Amino acid sequence: MRDNPRMSPPTAAPTIGFVSLGCPKALTDSELILTQLQAEGYSTSKTYDGADLVIVNTCGFIDDAVRESLDAIGEALDANGKVIVTGCLGARTGDGGGNLVRQMHPKVLAVTGPHATQEVMDAVHQHVPKPHDPFVDLVPAQGIKLTPRHYAYLKISEGCNHRCTFCIIPSMRGDLVSRPVGDVLGEAQRLFEAGVKELLVVSQDTSAYGVDVKYRTGFWDGKPVKTRMFELCEQLGRLAEPYGAWVRLHYVYPYPHVDEILPLMAEGRVLPYLDVPFQHAHPEVLKRMKRPASGERNLERLQRWREACPQIVVRSTFIAGFPGETEAEFEALLDFVREAQIDRAGCFAYSPVDGAAANAIDGQLPQALREERRARFMAVAEEVSARKLQQRVGATMQVLVDHAPALGRKGGIGRSYADAPEIDGQVRLLPPEKASKTLKTGEFTRARIVGTEGHDLVGVPV
Ligand code: SF4
Repeated sequence: MRDNPRMSPPTAAPTIGFVSLGCPKALTDSELILTQLQAEGYSTSKTYDGADLVIVNTCGFIDDAVRESLDAIGEALDANGKVIVTGCLGARTGDGGGNLVRQMHPKVLAVTGPHATQEVMDAVHQHVPKPHDPFVDLVPAQGIKLTPRHYAYLKISEGCNHRCTFCIIPSMRGDLVSRPVGDVLGEAQRLFEAGVKELLVVSQDTSAYGVDVKYRTGFWDGKPVKTRMFELCEQLGRLAEPYGAWVRLHYVYPYPHVDEILPLMAEGRVLPYLDVPFQHAHPEVLKRMKRPASGERNLERLQRWREACPQIVVRSTFIAGFPGETEAEFEALLDFVREAQIDRAGCFAYSPVDGAAANAIDGQLPQALREERRARFMAVAEEVSARKLQQRVGATMQVLVDHAPALGRKGGIGRSYADAPEIDGQVRLLPPEKASKTLKTGEFTRARIVGTEGHDLVGVPV
């Protein structure tokens, strides 16, 4: 039975109208959603009059209940226009296999099945942002961040569908679960509003974003957006633009669809920087590692990326001395680093992890040999990297200032698009040429590159 309509008291908090239909199980779902709404500061009402949005919890058990639910949705759409549907009817398929509610009422904002408090809340957040009261809330709108104020990590998914033999992450964190795209974009928006100038997209496998939900269409800002890497990057680039902020992508596997991101990089929507954990280059070693995208022709792919976006910087990590690695396989890895011109490379000597499948692979190499190969690898990688850094001398680059005491009159420390925080190099900023020029932590400056120092550049703010 539908509850009797009742007007809610006037309040400054956004109001969510709630229509609850169906059995006691549906009622407990309604209670959970109402509790969560109130805990987050929304005002709730048992009618849709004057509400900012209406949630209809439906029943799909018998024909009469289906009809009543569909009528209630239609009524709410007519009276209010912004409707989220949840409950059993939301899970029903209609003719031809599509979602029944969407077929009958294509204007609804979101549809979920039963027991979906979080999904319903995600949809509410997308369309009626969570109220925030700085005098009452202990948590700022952008959440608590452990990074400096001007950069932040944005996690887009948790877990991983791969089973690399040296890794135990999937056994700890499970298979890939992508965050709803509207949630991710909402968080990005709040971070930019809070002053973040560099957003670092992280996950275990960024290219796989949305695979688990079959690239489901979510909503952001009232518009449909697919839960997919390209659409996510495109939207993040749009959100970053008014703030002049950077979007940097980490943990991207070289699948063919990553090629679509390159034009976004060439247009400056996301940074022309890709963190691709190759781990090795020889096909046999990659097979033993069970690496994702191991069958891809990575060298050719990298060449194509460089053609599409010549300024692209590629960072990667590698493992030297993996079980069974022959000298020839290791040399193939060195050739790859040279030919692929990896800008920033890190390398670990293989080290067994408790519970990892690689521990059982034949041909474990002595520790000394693993270390020796790591050192040889780093010598080659540093040669490549140093040559590439040298090519930047004379260029003027945009630099995000990480540290600038005394307004940077004596210089400071920053990073260019080629440097992710913590893992890459830096730009050592000399005192500005003009006495009037100041530097501020968390702001951008232009710098003329005048030299290199190891992994770092040296620049003069201009
Ligand atoms: S190393 Fe492999 S299994 Fe582990 S998180 Fe990365 S892709 Fe997944």
